[in-house]
Amino acid sequence: MSRPILFQTGPMMAMIEKQLRDSFEVHTIWNATDPEKLICDVGPNVRGIATSAFSNTGRELIDACPKLEIISSFGVGYNTVDAPHAANKNVIVTNTPDVLTEEVADTAWGLLLMTVRELSAAERHLRSEGWLQGPYPLTRGTLQNKRIGIAGLGRIGKAIARRAVASGLKISYFGRNKQSDLNWPFYNDLETMARNVDILLAVLPGGNATDKIIGQSVLQALGPDGILINVGRGTAVDETALIQALKSETIMSAGLDVFENEPKVPQSLMDLNNVVLLPHVGSASVHTRDAMGQLVVDNLRSWFKSGQPLTPVAETPFDGEQNNAP
Ligand code: NAP
Repeated sequence: MSRPILFQTGPMMAMIEKQLRDSFEVHTIWNATDPEKLICDVGPNVRGIATSAFSNTGRELIDACPKLEIISSFGVGYNTVDAPHAANKNVIVTNTPDVLTEEVADTAWGLLLMTVRELSAAERHLRSEGWLQGPYPLTRGTLQNKRIGIAGLGRIGKAIARRAVASGLKISYFGRNKQSDLNWPFYNDLETMARNVDILLAVLPGGNATDKIIGQSVLQALGPDGILINVGRGTAVDETALIQALKSETIMSAGLDVFENEPKVPQSLMDLNNVVLLPHVGSASVHTRDAMGQLVVDNLRSWFKSGQPLTPVAETPFDGEQNNAP
């Protein structure tokens, strides 16, 4: 029997690419000599797409594949996939949740400690032999008796909250909905929460609904002793407003793993001492990336073998009645 035909929108880990080639007929778009011609010629027979947060799977590509059944995306954030349009076309979208939750929470907690206690600056002090001249200055920041507000208390937000509980922080959270099983203070207004916490930690998805949700007014509300940590999506923060707030010490400091226009990080941000910058490494261990990669492959294999996606996203819940089911 012929193997299902797939588009691959961008480069993926070798372990993913090998397994995709073993099970499917794969056509790679990003390195095709003429990607438009490839989409035009092969699109009509494509049944699956393997993609990630680093390349776009928009309306046009979906429409160019009338036999499309499933889009399997690497990563838990899937704002680069037009999931509502896929849903209208009865196409299942899957992502790779859960397998990265604890890793990202660990990274978030490390970034928070680096920022609050200035750990990367302290290490630079030692390496530049500054310690020989004198000790690193005492930090204004501390976790002792502090309040943390988590914007986006989902899978990763809750794993971060567990670490915050262990460190004795008072927790509150912001989202669209109050969670009935939690007693922590809930805010549906981000500015109000920012006014009532010392650390604002964002782990929100990208997309229009969260675009620049952390802007000047939220930063002002966080205040001169306030600290912002962002491990969700860079687009949730108004980067220009943040740079201004860090320069004018409207807030004390920030720790960022994600940026508006990755991998480009504004020089004006890099020039500042009161910000810790990481190159989007939230889930970036071999262990966790392998687990995410395997889930990309397993979603596709499971779909084409038994008609069951393993981890469909909220916009395309699987009810077993998809018109396009294999
Ligand atoms: P999740 O379980 O879906 O949690 C997302 C949370 O955000 C939910 O609690 C949701 O609460 C809230 N939310 C969603 N839209 C919102 C909106 N418009 N306004 C306010 N709150 C909103 O997802 P997760 O697995 O925790 O992942 C969260 C995000 O982290 C991903 O989407 C991804 O962008 C990012 N991420 C980053 C890295 C990294 O390497 N830095 C790694 C993995 C994931 P309500 O429904 O109550 O609003």
